[in-house]
Amino acid sequence: MGDTIIALGPGSPITVPEGTSDWERQALGELAQHGSGITPLRVRHDADLVAEGYRLEVSPEAVELSAGDARGRRYGIERLRQMTANGLVKTGRIVDSPSLGMRGYHLNLSLSTIGFNEGMRLLDSMANWRLNTVLVEYNARYPYKKHHAMSAPDALQREQVCELVSHAQALNIEVIPLHQCLGHVEYILNHDAYAHLREEDEHRDQWCPLKKESLALFKECVDDFVELHPGIRYFHMGGDEARRLGTCPKCAKETEAHGKGRLYVDFVTKAAEYVLSLGLTPIVWDDMLCTHSEVIEQMPREIVIMYWDYWTVNDPCAIFVARPENGLGVVTDRRWLGPWRAELGEVEQRMIAHFAKPMDFQTELSPAFCAKFGKYLGNQFPKRIRAFPYIEFYQDLGFKVIGAAAGGSNTSAWHGLPDWPRYGDNIRVFCRRLHEAGSLGVVTTAWYNFPPEAMLPALMYTGQFAWNVAITGECCAKL
Ligand SMILES: [Zn+2]
Repeated sequence: MGDTIIALGPGSPITVPEGTSDWERQALGELAQHGSGITPLRVRHDADLVAEGYRLEVSPEAVELSAGDARGRRYGIERLRQMTANGLVKTGRIVDSPSLGMRGYHLNLSLSTIGFNEGMRLLDSMANWRLNTVLVEYNARYPYKKHHAMSAPDALQREQVCELVSHAQALNIEVIPLHQCLGHVEYILNHDAYAHLREEDEHRDQWCPLKKESLALFKECVDDFVELHPGIRYFHMGGDEARRLGTCPKCAKETEAHGKGRLYVDFVTKAAEYVLSLGLTPIVWDDMLCTHSEVIEQMPREIVIMYWDYWTVNDPCAIFVARPENGLGVVTDRRWLGPWRAELGEVEQRMIAHFAKPMDFQTELSPAFCAKFGKYLGNQFPKRIRAFPYIEFYQDLGFKVIGAAAGGSNTSAWHGLPDWPRYGDNIRVFCRRLHEAGSLGVVTTAWYNFPPEAMLPALMYTGQFAWNVAITGECCAKL
């Protein structure tokens, strides 16, 4: 910014385009309220600006904000607020727009620490950090319309769901509701009334994909969600960690004939087709499709894949989430425990100590795995693996991809606090890779019962890194 100071004040004429919201009018009025100048404050519509982008031009003649849409206008006003003190602002020109189109956070109402009030406040924080998407997960906290037994005693009221949705929409935040289509439904199957749907009786967390009542119940839940979430474009069907596939006698027989992957894909495709028939885009977690990559090509390409990886903290990285290899989760090359150890950063060291199983990448990854995925692993393989290598694998098959980063994830800690350095690195590297690959965007997840204030750092990292993936070094003063 320049050195000339421009003064706004109650006498400043303010012009705004049609469609300017009350919030925007009020914010502009407040900007001018505390000054003593009369410089005009103009807000213009400029259709040539990219989505969510804005241009601020401060000259002795006027303070002018241009944007092509409501989000851009809001972000521009927020920026002007940050630059203005007592009605005074320096001359200069800023042109700004986001690196990623979807910048989201996971409002996980199934966590005991998050209720209606905390959810409303988190939405405000998301808007402050220029997030434009919220993935809402309820599980038993959803107030089911017909299936009351599936709702927990501390479920939200239906009016509260509507209020959360309309509050998000007023903040220009797109709502994506999540309802599991196959696994992680223990909160339903624990009830006797739904016992007949269980795949097995011990874990009770997955319904049988071959019982037609399973799909029927999912469809009913989708209808219920659609009623309380008007205006949505996406519907997240979950679909992760369906670990009981092939357990019941009927499914076991089917698995023997066609494999577990086929059982999964057949069911999830039917569920997705229902969501598509309502004019919505289905989203599924990627882990089952990655593990059963032999059947991924059978999935409809209208399904958006949400790729979750909470361990990668560097690009390229010493840690690799090698899902498609049977039994392999988070792994590292054995030499990181020996000769290469001194090259590890603090966060990578912690990730390896907590999570990574050592192996010899060159001899223990199967030839079939290397033939299929080798080209995605980067040129430092086997020492370091390109961060989030499956982004391109999915996209090359014709799927759109959203990254799911870690904002509250398992079992590593930082000086007795949530592992914010891990989350920060994971989110930052994920955002940069998603931008590089031209993916849809990022949603940072919250899985643990942290108090709401402990969720804010990861929410802020997401806002910052998804907006500008090129951010480096120390630039706090420019926030
Ligand atoms: Zn079954």
